Amino acid sequence: MDSVGVAAAAAAPEAGPGPAWQSKCPWGAPSTTSMSCSLADVMSEQLAKELQLEEENAAFPEVVAAAEGPFITGENIDTSSDLMLAQMLQMEFDREYDAQLRREEKKINGDSKVSISFENYRKVHPYDSDSSEDEVDWQDTRHDPYRADKPTTTPKRGFIGKGKDITTKHDEVVCGRKNTARMENFAPEFQVGDGIGMDLKLSNQVFNALKQHAYSEERRSARLHEKKEHSTAEKAVDPKTRLLLYKMVNSGMLETITGCISTGKESVVFHAYGGNATEDKVIPPECAIKVFKTTLNEFKNRDKYIKDDYRFKDRFSKLNPRKIIRMWAEKEMHNLTRMQNAGIPCPQVVILKKHVLVMSFIGQDQVPAPKLKDVTLSSEDMKKAYYQILNMMQQLYRECNLVHADLSEYNMLWHDGKVWLIDVSQSVEPTHPHGLEFLFRDCRNVSQFFQKGGVAEALNERELFNAVSGLNITADNEVDFQAEIEALEKMNEDHVQNHGKKLSTFSSDGDPPIYDE
Ligand code: ADP
Ligand code: MN
Repeated sequence: MDSVGVAAAAAAPEAGPGPAWQSKCPWGAPSTTSMSCSLADVMSEQLAKELQLEEENAAFPEVVAAAEGPFITGENIDTSSDLMLAQMLQMEFDREYDAQLRREEKKINGDSKVSISFENYRKVHPYDSDSSEDEVDWQDTRHDPYRADKPTTTPKRGFIGKGKDITTKHDEVVCGRKNTARMENFAPEFQVGDGIGMDLKLSNQVFNALKQHAYSEERRSARLHEKKEHSTAEKAVDPKTRLLLYKMVNSGMLETITGCISTGKESVVFHAYGGNATEDKVIPPECAIKVFKTTLNEFKNRDKYIKDDYRFKDRFSKLNPRKIIRMWAEKEMHNLTRMQNAGIPCPQVVILKKHVLVMSFIGQDQVPAPKLKDVTLSSEDMKKAYYQILNMMQQLYRECNLVHADLSEYNMLWHDGKVWLIDVSQSVEPTHPHGLEFLFRDCRNVSQFFQKGGVAEALNERELFNAVSGLNITADNEVDFQAEIEALEKMNEDHVQNHGKKLSTFSSDGDPPIYDE
């Protein structure tokens, strides 16, 4: 592209409007010439534009400008977005088709032991089928991004078939397909086109050349964005998230993002040093950034938490999946704020941006506080921790009107001689249709952990449930106890059906449920 520009400039040495023949002549100088960036840059520019447009409020104004600066283009945006749209549509179509195949398969197989498979007729092949959303999938920083770690067509033993029909991993066709699949593992900003879903076969030579190109493209783009804060963390997130993180650093809100603390199924947590305070905000010296994953696989089974939470009910039905992910982050923020107000030790919310929640870091010098499951406490501390948790569960229920719903030794940190509660995106109000069941589960986890940990005073799960909720369920075995819990939940739901309103609390002694007007 450059050479065209240079040649054209050479053909028209005098600057300014050329002679008339030049504008008519197909070989004349094109009116606009500067086109010296790669598709990757154009894509990130477009992304930056999109994000900027989407920006709900005017936080980080100086950063938006900075994001525009380095890559100025103007051309190609429409075509590239058309291409992207086309690819997305194609992907959607292919997935729809595959889903249909799967339904067919299921219908035919029923629950018979011998089953048939339409695997070979699928459009989106195994290497893609586990990322069911249109967002760029996540990459684990610990893996070589160029290694195919998803199922490939060659089984472990290295060959398929029998006798003379044997096919080894060196087979040209198999190898070609595998190479095509591996392209998916290139860096997210490397546009591989829509070949991945097709039966393309790349020879080793072509694949290696592409791989080399992807490497150098990545290095080039890394140089473009070179800043010390863009270090280890960036590979683990998709481009949109990366941009959000860049903005936070560029705005000075965060000093540096140092690295990843945890990669879970639903979120990735980073550590960062806090930056400058603004007029209305003091940034803690160390922050934790929880990024909710934008692929939905792991969130599907969490529907029940949010769908029935009346605070989010009206909005749920109207939202697309990506917005629902943001609601998890939002929910965590609201819940943390309630807890903070009640004085429960928990991370303090700094800022929420889409699916990215910044909060204070529990720990010191980049080392997160250990989870309760990982720390060995003296029996005295263990007892102290138990009473603290009992107290926190009561506060959570009574003052915050919340049930943690994922409370266990995995989500409690030991820091500064006390227990801190984290991970409250799934927490619900007690009157949630399954709220009391969740509470009972929490109680079981807590009580088992401390009973096993040798705290003789620890209540059993049923006693703990009553102590936290103030309810007085008398059943002396688990089955009856749970039946009573479910009956209470049902009563509450019936009340909603009949009165269109939720009870604000459960009654504590078998009286008709109290409803606070
Ligand atoms: P997940 O849903 O992935 O379990 P969590 O909120 O539990 O998400 O975070 C995962 C891990 O990240 C935690 O177990 C904890 O070790 C670490 N972590 C999360 N938030 C913080 C924080 N504010 N300070 C320190 N470590 C944190
Ligand atoms: Mn957790």
